[in-house]
Amino acid sequence: MLHFYKTPAVLKNISKSLIWNVLSNEKTIYLTFDDGPVPYLTEYIIETLNKYNAHATFFCVGDNIKKYPEVFKKAIEHGHGIGNHTFNHLKGWSSQNDKYMENIHKCQKIIEQNHTKVKKAIFRPPYGQITPRQIQLLKESYNLIMWDVLAYDFDKSHTAEKSLKKIIKATNSGSIVVFHDNYKAEKKLKYMLPKFLEHFKGLGFDFKNLMQCKFK
Ligand SMILES: [Zn+2]
Repeated sequence: MLHFYKTPAVLKNISKSLIWNVLSNEKTIYLTFDDGPVPYLTEYIIETLNKYNAHATFFCVGDNIKKYPEVFKKAIEHGHGIGNHTFNHLKGWSSQNDKYMENIHKCQKIIEQNHTKVKKAIFRPPYGQITPRQIQLLKESYNLIMWDVLAYDFDKSHTAEKSLKKIIKATNSGSIVVFHDNYKAEKKLKYMLPKFLEHFKGLGFDFKNLMQCKFK
């Protein structure tokens, strides 16, 4: 299996409507966590971010918000951003457009029941799968957030040590980095996240919530 810790430029150029990096001259990194909220693991992440005075963005699965509203509220209370990751973690390429849209709106509804409504919500497609037509249907209502750096925290073919080295090398100012608050990723994430924060804090970087960004 090929690992793309750093998203290749050729992929980033496919669609101008997708956001892969934040254009920034500041030493800022945008951490994101997909698939939660889930008990213990999301809470562990929030506590770890707190220790480093770091903010991040959680791309939530609507069904998990429904199951674990208290965990979801904790992320909001600590000033983290909330993004939409569909209600049931659907694959864009194999979903019918109307079903896909419906599932995303269902997730957005549950987010907005617990969170202040924002002018333009943020969405990340599960597995990074999204068709040109789906982009067209979504881009008016959502900023479509992809990533610059993937932690491979869910992947057992690379050790946590190796993955950490790779993502440290791949990350720079304005990088959007993906981890997962998903139990499959728990072991590697718990090794990698504190060390990643420690490394970049030591270099004078800040970690911010994506919702504070102005996208075009
Ligand atoms: Zn996901």
